[in-house]
Amino acid sequence: MPKATVRVPAALRTFVGGASELVLEGSTVGEVIRALSAANPALHPHLFTSGGRLRRPITVYLNEHDIRSLDREATRLREGDVVSVVWAGAEADPISRSKPARRPSRSKAPAEEPFPRDELSRYSRHLLLPEVGLVGQRKLRKAKVLVAGMGGLGTPVALYLAAAGVGELGLVDFDTVDLSNLQRQVLYTTSDVGRPKVAAAKERIEALNPGTRVVAYPTRLTSENAFDILRPFDVIVDGTDNFPTRYLLNDAAVLLGKPCVYGSVYRFEGQLSVFDARRGPCYRCLFTEPPSPDLAPSCAEAGVLGVLPGLIGLMQATETVKLVLERGNPMVGRLLLFDALRLEFREVTVGKNPRCVLCSSHATQKGLIDYPSFCGVPAPGAEPFEGTVPEVEADLLAAELASAKPPFLVDVREPFEWEIAHLPRAHLIPKGQVADRVDELTHAAKLVLYCRTGIRSAESARLLLELGFRNVRTLRGGIHAWAQRVDPSIPLY
Ligand SMILES: [Zn+2]
Repeated sequence: MPKATVRVPAALRTFVGGASELVLEGSTVGEVIRALSAANPALHPHLFTSGGRLRRPITVYLNEHDIRSLDREATRLREGDVVSVVWAGAEADPISRSKPARRPSRSKAPAEEPFPRDELSRYSRHLLLPEVGLVGQRKLRKAKVLVAGMGGLGTPVALYLAAAGVGELGLVDFDTVDLSNLQRQVLYTTSDVGRPKVAAAKERIEALNPGTRVVAYPTRLTSENAFDILRPFDVIVDGTDNFPTRYLLNDAAVLLGKPCVYGSVYRFEGQLSVFDARRGPCYRCLFTEPPSPDLAPSCAEAGVLGVLPGLIGLMQATETVKLVLERGNPMVGRLLLFDALRLEFREVTVGKNPRCVLCSSHATQKGLIDYPSFCGVPAPGAEPFEGTVPEVEADLLAAELASAKPPFLVDVREPFEWEIAHLPRAHLIPKGQVADRVDELTHAAKLVLYCRTGIRSAESARLLLELGFRNVRTLRGGIHAWAQRVDPSIPLY
């Protein structure tokens, strides 16, 4: 029987003992995937539905080909084949589809248009390239690019597009600069901490290139405002860090007939593609459904190598410039998978899904939907699992812990986080072990769970409530809130 190498994405490695690839025997793709699952029972529910079908956030490739374009699970294997399990990332009013799709930029370049002397000098290295030249530089100057999310991906994209001479940049982000952003979001400086990201970015970009007009949107992208924000722009760049916004951005771009330059990062891995439904697949063709929320942690929960979003972001900027110049082969219909630890780039082909609900000829979705509920997560800005898991404020918890009958305190973070700091009298049970270690909690009359900011503890508390525990609360805002309100000696990380 042939042996194949099965590559496991970072998000699922915890279920296979940390291995990034395994060699397994099987005569078909289905057999090796099922062998992988059988050898690692905890992995099974993440790969298969209860009905035994492959889950939709999972796409499987044989060498470079999507098995959906082959014989699916029945695809025959040969000795030495590579089977890649690709997991979704890392994360719209009815639009007149009848409107002719606009090109990313206008290709007409009137020769009489003046080109200021200082711009000849600023862009001289572009002007020397026959593929850019004055014609290309004018296209860049006329281009309007929207960068959605000014984090690790969006900041290098915006900086390089401004440097390259893109005439108008729209920047969307509701957040303020946090000290923990500076490890990768190199557009911001230490003195920007606490400022709105788009305000700091506008100042920095205009200092870099006064010829670039910055339109700042200090807001969350929502189903209500997405069309209005996206409509004026030629190219959309996806710098989002969560699935509801990523699906929203994809759907709005498809419905408006605009290309979306996709990038995502997760720990040491990145993905890149260009989704343009007018001539290729969209994000939903690749990932028809989002992963379950507990497998979709943000960088804040999962961590990310600081240089990684810089790498992926610069490739997004490269694709954007190519779209504007109408030069080269864009990443349409191709997905780049980057592994920083191996320093390995792999490319797989992504076909248009003939049953895509959004971009196929059988599309059923004609407008934007409720993305938080589609992705099974709380609405942006809402407290995690509001109304189901009671929370306790940090100062109140401090008082309870000092009382005669203190609650049993459980830290659901990872051991390395515990090493950084933990609350006095806490017990460490990482979130992934809570289900197996419930007997350590049954004696407690009152339970309080905490994590870094409150997301993992809410998920763990919900699990305990489902298991029949009664008096379970979480520390609102996690150890961060404790550091801010009770014990400032605890470091924020
Ligand atoms: Zn599609």
